[in-house]
Amino acid sequence: MRAIRLEGVGRLALREVETPVPGAGELLVRVGACGICGTDRHLLRGEFPAAPPVTLGHEFAGTVEAVGPGVAAFAPGMTVTGDPNIACGRCPECHRGRVHLCRNLRAIGIHRDGGFADYVLLPEGQAHRLPDGFDPVHGAFTEPLACCIHGMDIAAIRPGETVVVLGGGLIGLLVVQLARLAGATRIVLVTRSAEKRVLAERLGATETVDPATGSVEDLVAGVHGLLPGGADLVVEAAGVRDTVEQAPRLAARGGRVLLLGVLPQGEKVEIEPFDLLFREVRFLTSFVNPFTHARAAALIASGAIHVKPLVSRRIGFEEGVAAISNKAPGGEIRAIVVP
Ligand code: NAP
Ligand code: ZN
Repeated sequence: MRAIRLEGVGRLALREVETPVPGAGELLVRVGACGICGTDRHLLRGEFPAAPPVTLGHEFAGTVEAVGPGVAAFAPGMTVTGDPNIACGRCPECHRGRVHLCRNLRAIGIHRDGGFADYVLLPEGQAHRLPDGFDPVHGAFTEPLACCIHGMDIAAIRPGETVVVLGGGLIGLLVVQLARLAGATRIVLVTRSAEKRVLAERLGATETVDPATGSVEDLVAGVHGLLPGGADLVVEAAGVRDTVEQAPRLAARGGRVLLLGVLPQGEKVEIEPFDLLFREVRFLTSFVNPFTHARAAALIASGAIHVKPLVSRRIGFEEGVAAISNKAPGGEIRAIVVP
C-alpha cells in the first residue's frame, strides 16, 4: 500500500509499504480521508518529537476492511473514525480518569503508523462508528472537533453568555459553532483573513473583527465597543503570542480565558497578574480529547456542526507530501488527503 512516511526531521516521502495485518483487538481500516493538521508540519520540522520512521496522519475516517481476533463491536463494511490518542490505562493519571495526561500517551500518526496511507491499524477501543456510507472527508473532522469539545467542557459556557474567539482557523471556526450550540448570544471572531471572517459569520459568529486594522489598544477598544465590559469567555485559538496577551484584556470582570492554541515550546508571553487577580479573570487550558470523540462523531453525523465549508481542498498522496512540507496557503482551513 502507499503511505506518507516521516523518515526523520525534514524527511517526508511517499513510499510503498506492506499492508498491515490486524492483530488481536485491532481493526484494519481502509482510509477514506485524512486531514492535514498544523501538527503534521511541526512533526516534519522536528518541533514536536515523533517516532520515525512512521506514517503520519491522525485525523482520519474510513471503512473497516478486516478485524483481528477478539474484535466484538466492529465488522467489515462499517464506517469509522479513529481517536488517535492511546492512553496506557496503568499510570496514575489514567487511574484518575485523566487519560489525555497519560504519562505513556502514544498517538496514531505520531508514534505509530497513521492515516496518510491506504490502510491504518486501529485498536478497537479507539474506533467510533459513523453512519455507514458517511462521507469520510467529513468524518476526518472528528478528532479536531473532539479537542474543541474538551475545551468547551472546561470553559462551561452558560446560555446567554458572550464569547470572543481569537483565530479563525479550523479550531476557531469549530469553537464558534460549539459556542452557538451552547447558547452563547454574542460570538465575536477575531481573525485577519477576510475570507475566514465571512465564513465565520456563515457558521454562527454574530460579529467579526480584523485585528490587523489597528494596535492592541484599538482591538481591545473595538471588542469592548461590541461587548461593553468584555466577554464572559475569550477563547485563544490562534496559537500566537499576540493573541495570548490580548485574551485576558478582552475578558470581562469575573470572565475566563481558554487557551487552545499551541505556542512554540519555550516561548514566553507578558501577562499582568495584578489585572488577572483584581478582575478575577480565570486562565484555563485544554489539551486534546479525553472521552470527547464519541460526542464529536455524533455532532458531525447529525449535521449539528457544519464541516463541509471547512474542506478547502481534497488532494492525493503526492500533493499531500507537498502540502505537509509547505505552509498552508492563506485562507485555507483544511486540506484533506483522499487516497
Ligand atoms: P490555524 O489554521 O493555524 O489557525 C490559527 C489562525 O489564527 C490562523 O488561521 C490565522 O488566521 C489566525 N491568526 C494568526 N494570527 C492572528 C492574530 N494576531 N489575531 C487573530 N488571529 C490570528 O490552526 P488551527 O488548526 O485552527 O489550530 C489553532 C491552534 O490550536 C494551533 O495552535 C493548534 O496547534 C492548536 N490546537 C490545539 C489543540 C488542543 O488540544 N489544545 C488541538 C488542536 C489544535 P488569519 O490569517 O485569518 O489571522
Ligand atoms: Zn496512562
